[in-house]
Amino acid sequence: MNASAGSAGLARYAAQSAGTRGRRYQEPAALTRSDFQRDRDRIVHSTAFRRLEYKTQVFLNHEGDLFRTRLTHSIEVAQIARSIARALGLDEDLVEAISLAHDLGHTPFGHAGQDALNACMRDHGGFEHNLQSLRVVDELEQRYGGFDGLNLCFETREGILKHCSAANARRLGELGERFLLGLQPSLEAQVANLADEIAYNNHDVDDGLRSGLITLEQLQQVDLFAAHADVVSARYPAIAERRLVHETVRRMIDELVGDLLAETQRRIAVAAPGSLDEVRRAGPLVAFSAPMRERSQRLKSFLHAHLYRHPQVETVMDQARRAVHTLFDAYRDDDRLLPDEHRERAQHLGARAIADYIAGMTDRFALKELARIGADQT
Ligand code: MG
Repeated sequence: MNASAGSAGLARYAAQSAGTRGRRYQEPAALTRSDFQRDRDRIVHSTAFRRLEYKTQVFLNHEGDLFRTRLTHSIEVAQIARSIARALGLDEDLVEAISLAHDLGHTPFGHAGQDALNACMRDHGGFEHNLQSLRVVDELEQRYGGFDGLNLCFETREGILKHCSAANARRLGELGERFLLGLQPSLEAQVANLADEIAYNNHDVDDGLRSGLITLEQLQQVDLFAAHADVVSARYPAIAERRLVHETVRRMIDELVGDLLAETQRRIAVAAPGSLDEVRRAGPLVAFSAPMRERSQRLKSFLHAHLYRHPQVETVMDQARRAVHTLFDAYRDDDRLLPDEHRERAQHLGARAIADYIAGMTDRFALKELARIGADQT
């Protein structure tokens, strides 16, 4: 396998910062940083990134200080993705940039917020958090004198756009091409995508147990969890439950990452891509083995049935959905409720400007807005 020979000691099939397809607005190169490092830095300094701290992952932000937020989730994704990237000889800065940016477009209140906003936008092109993440870095961040957005490299933007309808792909031009032509994104993008899945499956087990909504007994049905929990209990018979959970979860992450690396290395050896272009034309190369995909899927199904659709979570999420609908309708009915800047945008862009405003809110800001406009929160 071509493990080396790219620039900076990276594999030939890695995305090469020096060979980037470039930024939308030309800028002089940075003195000490590569283009992908610079993208990562721009994301960390963005307003949308700081907002992630107060946005719901699964548990609403005010339900407890120890649950994951979008921010800690994104950092966990970046950590897992970087480990995988390093082992594969990929560009760690690119993988980190994509990971840290992947959820920037999320609404307040997690998936309930996204569903509600999508429903509000049904007649106006819909709302999709993944596309919104791209919109944040391409248009909504206001930090530069010469352009809107963060002016990130093509490869970073490509990685942020995980999926896309054909209609949106046509509208996005060069960036949407791969969805129409059936091409793959960089390995860095593929790694960030699966690191996201490893991160949320595992931290949702941890958060779910912490919340008491799921139990260790229930998790015995999930072979990926039970196999490791059994080893841990046998090795440390008197272990406290919290430590058992941490020991088990870290072993699950280890096994998932190990499997992903082995399967990916196997696929890379078979396809032998000599460049990023060849990666694009190959099938998906970053993948779990078939047995691990199945085990991971069973964990996912468990979390859907027992955690994400737990009646207690559903009740809170219903309130969240109503909150988003109420805010949207209020701004549509009376644009004087919007801050000046957003009112001006709404006069040009209509409902899309309202969706941008709501999507940018943190959970607690949305609740404050709801109280301010005099609506009932429950
Ligand atoms: Mg995510």
